[in-house]
Amino acid sequence: MLIDSHAHLDMEKFDSDRDQIIDRALSVDVKQIITVGIDIKSSIRAVNLAKSHSSIFASVGIHPHNADNTDKNDLKQIPLIATQEKIVAIGETGLDFFRNRSSRQKQVELFKQQLDIAISLDLPVVIHDREAHEEILKILLSFNRNGFKGVIHCFSGDYNLAKTFIEMGYYISIPGTVTFKNASQIQDVAVRVPLNRMLLETDAPFLAPVPYRGKRNEPCHVIHTAQKVAKLRGISFEEVAMQTSKNTCQLFSIPFPNQEKPDSNKL
Ligand SMILES: [Zn+2]
Ligand SMILES: [Zn+2]
Repeated sequence: MLIDSHAHLDMEKFDSDRDQIIDRALSVDVKQIITVGIDIKSSIRAVNLAKSHSSIFASVGIHPHNADNTDKNDLKQIPLIATQEKIVAIGETGLDFFRNRSSRQKQVELFKQQLDIAISLDLPVVIHDREAHEEILKILLSFNRNGFKGVIHCFSGDYNLAKTFIEMGYYISIPGTVTFKNASQIQDVAVRVPLNRMLLETDAPFLAPVPYRGKRNEPCHVIHTAQKVAKLRGISFEEVAMQTSKNTCQLFSIPFPNQEKPDSNKL
C-alpha cells in the first residue's frame, strides 16, 4: 500500500474523470491521497472532495503564486475552512522565486501569515520551496517551536539542505522527478535521507514520473516513484511503501489505512 501525500485533485484537468482517477488509485493500493488547495476556492473544493471520499484528506492554503491576489478576507477564511473534519494541514504555502508570479515581498508576508495560522491551529504545514531555500530556512528558523511540523513538498534542494530541514523536524517529500534521467541531485537525496523522514508524492496533475513523463500525472503513478526509491536504496518496494505511508499518517495525524482492499470508495 501507498499514500500520495500531495496531489491537486480539485484541478480542472481532472474534471472529466475525477472519480475514475480516485478509483484507479485505490485499485492499485494507493490507499489515501492528500489533496492540496492553492487558493480559497481550490481549498474549499479540496475539503468537499475529502468529505465525499473516505480515502481523501485535504490541506487548506494559498500558494505563493497567488500571493498578489490575496487579501485579508481570504486569510480570515483559512482557519474557518481548516477546522473542518479531514483537514490535515495548512498549505501549500511557501516561496517560489523561480517563476515569481507574485512579488517576493507579498509571498514572504503570506507565508509567515500561514505559518502563524498553522501554529495557532496546531496543524502541520505543506511547504512549497522553489529557488528560495535560504529565505525559507530563515523564516522557518524564526518560527521554530517545539512540536511544529511540516513537509518540504517536491523537494528540490541537495542532501545538505534536506538534512538541515530534517534536523529542524521537517519531512522531505520525493516527487516523480526522481525517476527522470539526469536527476542526480534528487536521486542522491532519495538515497541518503533517513527513510523514516521521507514522504512520496505525485503533485498531480504535474510532474508525471517515467514512463508517463510529460503526460497528465495522477495519484496511482506514485507507485513508479516508490519503485525508483526502492531500487536506488537497494531495498524492497514494500519497505518503502510501508515506511513512507507510516510517515505520512504520522505527520498528518491520520489513521493508518486498513490493509484490506475496500469494495468501493463510493457511498
Ligand atoms: Zn508546490
Ligand atoms: Zn502542489
